[in-house]
Amino acid sequence: MSKTIIISNRLPVKITGNEGNYSLEPSEGGLATGLGSIYKQGDNVWIGWPGVDVAEEQQPDITHKLRDLSLMPVYLSQEEINEYYEGFSNEVLWPVFHYYASTYASYKQSNWQFYQQVNKKFRDVVLRILEPGDIVWVHDYQLLLLPGLIRNERPDVSIGFFLHIPFPSYEMFRLIPWRAELLDGILGADLIGFHTFDDARHFMSAATRLLPVRSSSNIINTGDRSIVVESFPMGIDSEKYAALTKAPEVLEQVKLLKHNFKGLQIILSVDRLDYSKGILQRLQAFEMLLKTYPEYKEKVSLYMIVVPSRDTVPQYKELRDQIDKRVGNINGLYRTMDWNPIHYYYRSFPIETLSALYHIADVCLVTPMRDGMNLVSKEFVASRTKNDGVLILSEMAGASKELTEAIIVNPNNMVEVCSAIVAALNMIPDEKKRRMVQLRSMVSKFNVNHWVKLFINKLAEVKEMQLAMR
Ligand code: UDP
Repeated sequence: MSKTIIISNRLPVKITGNEGNYSLEPSEGGLATGLGSIYKQGDNVWIGWPGVDVAEEQQPDITHKLRDLSLMPVYLSQEEINEYYEGFSNEVLWPVFHYYASTYASYKQSNWQFYQQVNKKFRDVVLRILEPGDIVWVHDYQLLLLPGLIRNERPDVSIGFFLHIPFPSYEMFRLIPWRAELLDGILGADLIGFHTFDDARHFMSAATRLLPVRSSSNIINTGDRSIVVESFPMGIDSEKYAALTKAPEVLEQVKLLKHNFKGLQIILSVDRLDYSKGILQRLQAFEMLLKTYPEYKEKVSLYMIVVPSRDTVPQYKELRDQIDKRVGNINGLYRTMDWNPIHYYYRSFPIETLSALYHIADVCLVTPMRDGMNLVSKEFVASRTKNDGVLILSEMAGASKELTEAIIVNPNNMVEVCSAIVAALNMIPDEKKRRMVQLRSMVSKFNVNHWVKLFINKLAEVKEMQLAMR
């Protein structure tokens, strides 16, 4: 019986406690939910880093506990995490792929050495369990070299690769000193998936310009193998978000929020702390709204959640300080005795609170400068079971290609974002309904299970095509 091996940087598990007394809990992020239908079946397995630095003597125990959850660990040292994950993945690949090369990318040779070393570490774990006929599905930018490393050892294995962040235009990608090696690594896969057609197009362009490969429509030929490059926009577990709106805990919070914000329209924004999310620009647009349309004072509040992320990295800490300052300025300038322009939270919330907020918000304002997909926009839509609410969405988010009934904006165009907020606040119920019905049908039809099925079926099809061409 062949099996499917899923590989991502992080395992879908939360490890809590401390040395000698660890406890494991499966974590249900979007990817884990979608892939849950696969990795928990039969002999299938998910390989990744468990998320904490586990002392060597503790590793057998953790490995054993993970095995019961169909998970297999790759243990990384603190130095490997610093160099491969924080260094190369988050300070080279993340900024370049999000078009921030000139501002934030630093190309350190030692980061690159560790990136290669850790990708090889992942390969070695895969090779320990890889058998003929198995299917391998590698995820995301931390493991760009892995498909090639596995292919070198096992030329016949079926490998899929999916990138969860944007793939930048050739002019950005070419800046990376190790660009050819990275492309070679990705091309170890038989099927290469991206969120959008533009990402796929950018990848094709980079591969054909930088490597001696040929392409025809969406197929790349390396001489001995044909590789398919395609877009697979990732969905969410829409039923979960719809069902949550009826959970007693959520209803309780909805009641409380409605009471607290009586007479106000709420604009919701939810992001991880990241420069790609356009948080400062969004605050600027909100301030412009208050300045240009004073009639919205005491009528509208921005409820802004920023989830802490990478805040040991200086650029992220600096961004956090800037957000704190701007929020303080706006609130200081406009607040009144019984009204706060911005309700700002720098922390993460349980899914029930998010659901309640998604459910009560009048407008969801999602304006990243660049985003592979953006799941928050889809979660908001899935939570609008009464077909109301308005989504304002940046055209730089992958989701904008599917959620075309949102008000689509260029996040750099402050005037446009400001006008979109005004349009959303004044939209008539029939128009809200017309848009939301379409958005919801899109999000529910192209859900995460659909995404997994499409990718896996296509991978099987590609393998058949390759065999037929031999
Ligand atoms: N999220 C969360 N806790 C919070 C706020 C958000 O777990 O307090 C989740 C949110 O539900 C979404 C994810 O974080 O699933 C963010 O995904 P998105 O694609 O929007 O952005 P990313 O952070 O992956 O760049």
